[in-house]
Amino acid sequence: MTPSTTPGHQRAKHDARSSNDAHGLPDRVPVLIIGAGPIGLALGVELGMHGVASLLVEQDTEVPSVPVKAMLLNPRALEQFRRWGIATTLRQAATTPPAWQKQVVLATSLTGREYGAFRQGLSFRGADDSDRVAESAQLVMQPTTTKVLRDRAVELGATVALGWRLVSLDQDENGCIAEVEQVTTGTRQVIGSDYLVGCDGAQSTVRVSAGISRSGRGGVAAHLLLHWESPEVFTHSRITPGAFNALYHPDGNALAVPIDEKSWCAHVAGYPVDLDLDTVDVDAIVQRIVGPDIPFTLTYKGVYKIHERIADRYRVGRLFLAGDAAHLCAPWGGHNMNAGMADALNLGWKLAATLMGWGGDALLDSYEAERRPIAVTNAVEASSNVDRWIETYETVLSTIDAEVLEADGHEAESRRRAWGDALWRGVRAQFDSEGITLDQRYHSEVIAEDPAPVTPWSATVYSPSSHPGHRAPHAWLSAQVSLYDAMGIGFSILYHPGDATAAMGFVAQANRIGIPLTPIELTDPIAAIRYDHPLTVVRPDQHVAWRGSADSDPTAVLLKITGCEDQVHEGATAALS
Ligand SMILES: Cc1cc2nc3c(=O)[nH]c(=O)nc-3n(C[C@H](O)[C@H](O)[C@H](O)COP(=O)(O)OP(=O)(O)OC[C@H]3O[C@@H](n4cnc5c(N)ncnc54)[C@H](O)[C@@H]3O)c2cc1C
Repeated sequence: MTPSTTPGHQRAKHDARSSNDAHGLPDRVPVLIIGAGPIGLALGVELGMHGVASLLVEQDTEVPSVPVKAMLLNPRALEQFRRWGIATTLRQAATTPPAWQKQVVLATSLTGREYGAFRQGLSFRGADDSDRVAESAQLVMQPTTTKVLRDRAVELGATVALGWRLVSLDQDENGCIAEVEQVTTGTRQVIGSDYLVGCDGAQSTVRVSAGISRSGRGGVAAHLLLHWESPEVFTHSRITPGAFNALYHPDGNALAVPIDEKSWCAHVAGYPVDLDLDTVDVDAIVQRIVGPDIPFTLTYKGVYKIHERIADRYRVGRLFLAGDAAHLCAPWGGHNMNAGMADALNLGWKLAATLMGWGGDALLDSYEAERRPIAVTNAVEASSNVDRWIETYETVLSTIDAEVLEADGHEAESRRRAWGDALWRGVRAQFDSEGITLDQRYHSEVIAEDPAPVTPWSATVYSPSSHPGHRAPHAWLSAQVSLYDAMGIGFSILYHPGDATAAMGFVAQANRIGIPLTPIELTDPIAAIRYDHPLTVVRPDQHVAWRGSADSDPTAVLLKITGCEDQVHEGATAALS
């Protein structure tokens, strides 16, 4: 790897707008982000939280409103939005009618008969009735998410240059050089940076320029993505309002999601990868989805392909990849943007730590070690969701009596409930992925592994654990105050009341080295149970870095978890001498 930032290379102020040229773009920035989609912007926000201003170069001038891709932000992503101070803003900006934002409903059509309504799982119950998460999931359309992130990134000091695209890039041991071009004028400019992050989506120019290959399967299947307007659905619907409406009928299946009080979107699975959209009777499909005689106006039709593609490297020297540039998976389960949000958080604080002089090169290497395996797992699980969806439809369909399907009466109702239970058993993992969402376990050189046994990982089950590498267990400190709120921007050390002296020893040493470390006394009984070691150090991304006894050596622990074990930095050298 390229040597990390040397003290002489650091900037006193990490200001992206410190040196403007004639075109208004700076000629040198600490972090240059290519792509101002949701993940580039999330990275800009996390960097901004640490006082590091970034420059985002985005080829588009507007956030495209159609087609809407990501619709579900899971509880973990919302916890990040809470950290960034925009969870409430995001919920207020969401356009879906509140009644349609919660459960998963299985039905024959949006105005037909219901097989069942399900609200299991943290995704939709979330913080309403669980202390294991700080936030519940939110149905919110990707353009809205992008705008909320953009406002926050700019508020925190990021510069977003719209209408500029990356043309070429290079790097040496001192930094990266990117050539960008204004899309409308063809004007070109060179921008230097300490680090460059490719958040430029599936076709990533950064990934291709860096020569990073991808593993996995591409173009596994094709799905339809349809948008239409039909306010009548809301007034004529007899089913329980659903955030996700899984529609199963002998004539076909679809997953329909309400966008706002008049607009809808649906995914229709199971087409061959070489599908010609002109051969599909899209109007007939939408009519089946909304129900007979319900008027609608089609506003978008498209085909997207299912890919399972993961970049083989997330880091090459001073270049990094995040979001879709690094990983692609089927959207069934809603994992990929949520995973990209976690990429942004994971990478953001590590870049900031390195720029501020308290993060070592191993910290930057840990980004790939920690995030890439999660993407591999997500891709497998997402494809399984597609397979289960189609298999469940075909299996249960063979037992469905079409005459009973839409009939009145108790007998028909109980038959539909039985089919609903069978359907839900088949597809539940897609909507109820607690393990994928909350049980992301990191293994890297900056996680102080301990030998205690851990529960086997499951995609659908989450049990809080303070094992190093795991998401730090959540607890409420009071009705509105999450343990995460108390943690602050840097590291935190959680200690039991009898271990205050040892904890303060860690804080004093962290201060000497220059590592931000917030002490938190575990007075809440649930938090005290979930953090069962005398001391636990939690990272800025709310993952446990280390836990241990009160007589542990603070210097050794702090150097390990900041990636400085082999590279004692200036502050540490001074502190240790
Ligand atoms: C149909 C569908 C439904 C989905 N649903 C969900 C869901 O419910 N939940 C979920 O978590 N995920 C979902 N996803 C995935 C989600 O949409 C992506 O993971 C998300 O868009 C990734 O964000 P990103 O910022 O990495 O990339 P993008 O959104 O692709 O943004 C990349 C940005 O980079 C810009 N760019 C590209 N090249 C250049 C260049 N050379 N110079 C400058 N700018 C450049 C682009 O203009 C773009 O703005 C879905 C995807 C699809 C296709």
